[in-house]
Amino acid sequence: MNCDDVRRDDIPERYVAGKLPEGERDGYEAHYFECETCFAGLEAIRAVQSDLRGNESAIRALPAPRKVIVMRFAVPLALAAAILLAAVLYRAQNQAVPAVPVAVSPKPVDYTLLAKLEPPAYEPALRRGSADKAALRFVQAMENYRRRDYAQTIAGLHASLALDSGAAAPRFFLGACELLTGDWDQGTRDLEMVVASGSGPFLEEGLMLLAKASLHRNDPATARRELEQLVASKGDLAPAAGELLRQLDDLSSGQGK
Ligand SMILES: [Zn+2]
Repeated sequence: MNCDDVRRDDIPERYVAGKLPEGERDGYEAHYFECETCFAGLEAIRAVQSDLRGNESAIRALPAPRKVIVMRFAVPLALAAAILLAAVLYRAQNQAVPAVPVAVSPKPVDYTLLAKLEPPAYEPALRRGSADKAALRFVQAMENYRRRDYAQTIAGLHASLALDSGAAAPRFFLGACELLTGDWDQGTRDLEMVVASGSGPFLEEGLMLLAKASLHRNDPATARRELEQLVASKGDLAPAAGELLRQLDDLSSGQGK
């Protein structure tokens, strides 16, 4: 593919819309990787597109269907088991210690309210012409991320990580996409790998996402540790972490009301 092909066949428009057949897509990606002019043209089209998308809701929530089905049966069963167990325990307790009133436990706090996610911003920062295969795969995968097709992004990021498992950017966005598609456990594991490296451009954002995942698990103690680490870092996300900590405290102090 050359510059003339790109212009004649409206390749960038079709590419951004996700409507290029695979062969043409690969050819175009290989070309704009090397061609400054076509890359600039692509960026211009993306800029227009992201303006149009500005008002779209930030997250397309994707509930995992299988989980929903399992939950439908699991909850009543678990509930029935819990009620049965409570009845048995209550009877046992009343027989053993008749005079002690049963302590009323405070209403549990729902920290998942604070677990709202925004997809992390992605700006391609690849040096033109110096791309290796893993980096090219990463850029390809992130085309799906721009379209908010997180499942496709995950598949592409796995392909990139298969070529370079230690790369921070694909690991970070893999974790983010997993959280965004409801796979909080796997997302947490991948983001922990990013944060465990202890430095790099994704450390702070990784910590923030981990804190959200902890809140989603209703684990405020871990979330608090992660947010306090962010505040202590005095980085770009320190103010946001401080604000989230304050909301966490508000929720905690409202306990039992
Ligand atoms: Zn070109």
